[in-house]
Amino acid sequence: MSLEQTEKAFLDYLKEQNAYREAITLIQWDLRTKVPKKGVGQRSEVVGYLSQKLHQMQVSDKIKEFIDELKGKSTNEIIEKSILECEETYEKNRKIPETEFKEYVMLQSKGEAVWQEARDKADFAMFQPYLEKLVEYNKKFANYWGYKENIYDALLHNYEPGVTVKTLDEVFPKVRSSLSELLQKIETSSVRPNTELLHTHFPKKGQKDLSIEILNRMGYDWDAGRLDDTIHPFEITVNLNDVRITTRYDEQDFRMAVFGIIHEAGHALYEQNIDKKLEGTPLASGTSMGIHESQSLFWENFLGRNKIFWESHYDLFKKYAPSHFENVSLTDFYQAVNEVKPSFIRIEADELTYPLHIMVRYELEKALINGEIEVRDLPQLWNEKMEEYLGIKPQSDREGVLQDIHWAGGDFGYFPSYALGYMYAAQFEHKMRETVNIDQVIRSGDFSPIRQWMTNNIHQYGKMKKPLDILNDVTGEGLNPDYLIRYLTTKYQDIYQF
Ligand code: ZN
Repeated sequence: MSLEQTEKAFLDYLKEQNAYREAITLIQWDLRTKVPKKGVGQRSEVVGYLSQKLHQMQVSDKIKEFIDELKGKSTNEIIEKSILECEETYEKNRKIPETEFKEYVMLQSKGEAVWQEARDKADFAMFQPYLEKLVEYNKKFANYWGYKENIYDALLHNYEPGVTVKTLDEVFPKVRSSLSELLQKIETSSVRPNTELLHTHFPKKGQKDLSIEILNRMGYDWDAGRLDDTIHPFEITVNLNDVRITTRYDEQDFRMAVFGIIHEAGHALYEQNIDKKLEGTPLASGTSMGIHESQSLFWENFLGRNKIFWESHYDLFKKYAPSHFENVSLTDFYQAVNEVKPSFIRIEADELTYPLHIMVRYELEKALINGEIEVRDLPQLWNEKMEEYLGIKPQSDREGVLQDIHWAGGDFGYFPSYALGYMYAAQFEHKMRETVNIDQVIRSGDFSPIRQWMTNNIHQYGKMKKPLDILNDVTGEGLNPDYLIRYLTTKYQDIYQF
């Protein structure tokens, strides 16, 4: 076969993989939004079957042949980078013995089911043996995959390639001490936002209509997406022309849906604006968890919780909100949606204390993977760290170590991306201000110049660029926590007047 013929055959092979991936994604969306209760069992089996097929293609002899024949030879950049992606997946999966891989997949699904029950019963001991096995497998896999300095780096690589323990251990303590300082000042401030005034009956329809109006201003493409109800909100990409978001409505607390929808739409804009030339290849996706989270957090916090946003959008809010808000002043409202208050549950945390939650998890999982602590000691260590970093001590493991699903699914190395995304977002925002008058754009109600900047600098590339390359190309520097610290300091000095 000529090089062109091999390239064509390779692209066809990717297309076939993509057909499985798209089917799996659509079924997953269905499982989490629409499926009737009795349909779940059979549907899960179908996902399992299709996932196995996809996995086989990713580690097949055929893909190995393509890698050997095309790597370093193609003049087409998309093909060259697709080959590298395929190679990484191939190597990663082939290094794990098949029996161990199968056992692990079963352990993951069992682990999630047991975790669910253990969390409901606040019974860590029930989950402990599963978590012990999950940790053991992850250590084993990390050793198969290899690392230079710290075994945890091998796991980080799965979510944020290029970021290492060394980097995190430099950056996180800096963020932590700045946030702790801010938190202390906030706690002694005489300003006490009143969040009670946010809790009034706000019908779902009004929340939805308001959110849709905000999404229109952000430029969410409804011809390439949709919004549905779910229990745990998420964004999901079926393909670049079908990028869906979901939310949950709480009629006593509009923040859940309104800020949640802006967050998920931030993820969706990323995917909707990836260059269509990448469609059908493994490059047609956000480049990392951290860069993805930078997009959702930018829109949710830097825009959605911004003072100018509410100055210019409070009238729009009141158009859909119950009349109760007619008596709530803009200042009271703005302070309330930005209240800082240490809380037990990560996903309910405010924007200032949120990174501290991530650091608790990062330090514990790093120590676990390095064999410095035992799974059985986790509940106590968790509570101690919460008290040290946030000044509050969980009363049960349900609001402590058992709250997140990640470890139950074997996702070690994932948590840092949340805090990294936040730092990236602050770095991007700082850079954007050089060429975009963000305040004016927000006031205008048409946010497309912001979206356009993100698309030009980040979205379009998909996985063509690695996360730290994007950061460097866009901002001219590496990971730098100063921008986030400065952003939070300025914002909360203004709100809490210190
Ligand atoms: Zn997110």
